[in-house]
Amino acid sequence: MQIILVSRARKVPKTLDLADRRLRWRLLGVVAAAVLGCAALGAGLALAVASPRGRALTEISHLRQQVKQQNGQLGKMRRDAQRQLDALAVKLGQLQAQSTRLNALGERLAQVGKLDNGEFNFDQPPPVGGVDDSTGSYMLPQALGASIDQLAKQFDSQQTQLDALQSLLLNARIDSDLKPTGMPVHGGYISSYFGMRPDPFNGRVELHSGLDIAVPYGTPVHAVAEGMVTFAGVRRGYGNVVEIDHGNGYMTRYAHNSVLLVHPGERVSVGQVISKVGMTGRTTGPHVHFEVWYKGHVVNPLAYVRSHR
Ligand SMILES: [Zn+2]
Repeated sequence: MQIILVSRARKVPKTLDLADRRLRWRLLGVVAAAVLGCAALGAGLALAVASPRGRALTEISHLRQQVKQQNGQLGKMRRDAQRQLDALAVKLGQLQAQSTRLNALGERLAQVGKLDNGEFNFDQPPPVGGVDDSTGSYMLPQALGASIDQLAKQFDSQQTQLDALQSLLLNARIDSDLKPTGMPVHGGYISSYFGMRPDPFNGRVELHSGLDIAVPYGTPVHAVAEGMVTFAGVRRGYGNVVEIDHGNGYMTRYAHNSVLLVHPGERVSVGQVISKVGMTGRTTGPHVHFEVWYKGHVVNPLAYVRSHR
């Protein structure tokens, strides 16, 4: 077979003889290249047209995966929150029961002891930075939990306080020399009460665990009840301190003394002079820091110093 190519530029037509093997291969090569080129172009075109849709589809499936994941997390959070709320509800229920009991006890004690309001008023919530109704809804469960824990601690301490008061008041008729009664010093004035207050040295709000009675330097300090001296020496912050165990669960502590006049193991009688007022330990001036402990818990000494034998 022969192909004759006629061109205007050329006077003589060009003849391609397909019987020629080399030429046949060359032609085949050209045709194959053309076919391949067309295929590649088609594929490229198809890809260019289909690609935005494909990409969108991939993105959608990715988003769907994310939504599914977030839904799972939300479900877990909801379950966690529910569990925390359940725990808080149980805690609150316990606190409410305790509060009711404390109120009843407080009323009874106030009637029995004719205590003045203010210091032992149980109708009002304790003055601590706790849950405020106006901001409560913004609190995180953890913060709420911490507040409730603090409230629970406060209740525990109040309960001890009430137990001590109850024992003090209900046994008031029994004139016991073993019960802390009256002031440890004559004269002076109460310069700081028991309770939460800003620390005079670092300003942090902390529990002031006793009563401060300001009196002149060297004033005699008396034992407020009969008992046995369990400690007479230096304690950090307290300076020269005397501790007396009175039995019946009571212990008293007298701090910041200049001189100690008793020694551990010594029996002391009611009103016995045990030390002299000073300024040892953490103190801004001469005073006696007086603590009353009942069954291992420090309590407000006010009712004791105000009571009489
Ligand atoms: Zn003090």
